[in-house]
Amino acid sequence: MIHESISSLNTNLLAELTGRAIEAYPASAASIRKAHTMVLGGAVTLSAHEAFVESATTPGTYYRVAGQACSCPATTPLCCHRFAVALLRRYQAEESLPQPAPPARPKRYYAWLLGANELAVQAEAEATPGRYTLYYRDAVWAYNIPGDMLTLLGEVELSDLQRQADGDLVAKACGR
Ligand SMILES: [Zn+2]
Repeated sequence: MIHESISSLNTNLLAELTGRAIEAYPASAASIRKAHTMVLGGAVTLSAHEAFVESATTPGTYYRVAGQACSCPATTPLCCHRFAVALLRRYQAEESLPQPAPPARPKRYYAWLLGANELAVQAEAEATPGRYTLYYRDAVWAYNIPGDMLTLLGEVELSDLQRQADGDLVAKACGR
């Protein structure tokens, strides 16, 4: 039996895999989020050919997941227990791989109109699909901003090199 303790989990990797699963199964987003919480809470116990997941609603009750089947009363084959087992197995597979250096991802900049002044705001994607954290002068400026809002405000995509070449976008945009 392999049992991941909470303290040993790479929560960033788990969150990333959860995001990927939601992208692949958008209709099951709620079940996948529940599965994420279950894995974080140590509710999943794996062995080679089966797994047991403790019920979130009835602690002390364990459902057996083997292949495509789960012993829980849910009528859907895509229950949170199966997602929890799939998530932990994928996590263990990815964690055991040598981790390549993360690719330098192009940063995205947006012009944000604020009164008479224009601010150059850097947006980075959050774990929640479609949501962005905004940075202004490298400090967090706002969380949880929907992507379509940014598009409305006018997206300017620039690489870091481009940014360096451009210098201070605020000064440039506002003539300061
Ligand atoms: Zn189930």
